[in-house]
Amino acid sequence: MENCIFCKIVRREIPSDKIYEDENLLAFNDIKPAAPIHFLLIPKRHIDSLSDVQDIHQSLLGKMLLLAPQLAKDRGCENGFRTIINTGPVGGQEIFHLHFHIIGGRDRLPGMIHSG
Ligand code: AMP
Ligand code: ZN
Repeated sequence: MENCIFCKIVRREIPSDKIYEDENLLAFNDIKPAAPIHFLLIPKRHIDSLSDVQDIHQSLLGKMLLLAPQLAKDRGCENGFRTIINTGPVGGQEIFHLHFHIIGGRDRLPGMIHSG
């Protein structure tokens, strides 16, 4: 995807504060952290959003879920963290390249969405 900002990060056309990379996955610190620890975990191959995953992505998604707690612990989230996958306009997704937010580093993160 030529103009996708995260594909550009994967291709190193724009810089990122990288914390992990392997053949299929990349993790880097969020440019506007919502908490002391806030990084993004993405597949290197472009997928628009969680609404677009298919059976062929099963192993990739499993790898992402297995990696998230490892990276979080490596970065000091001993007592837990939050994983957020904003999906589509309702979910507030701004960048349409699938990404997991991993957020932590506080004693307790604020509550979730409130009704009303
Ligand atoms: P979302 O609303 O789930 O699509 O979140 C997109 C996230 O990407 C936001 O938290 C942004 O701060 C973050 N972001 C945008 N551009 C960059 C960038 N160049 N490097 C790191 N994080 C970014
Ligand atoms: Zn992309």
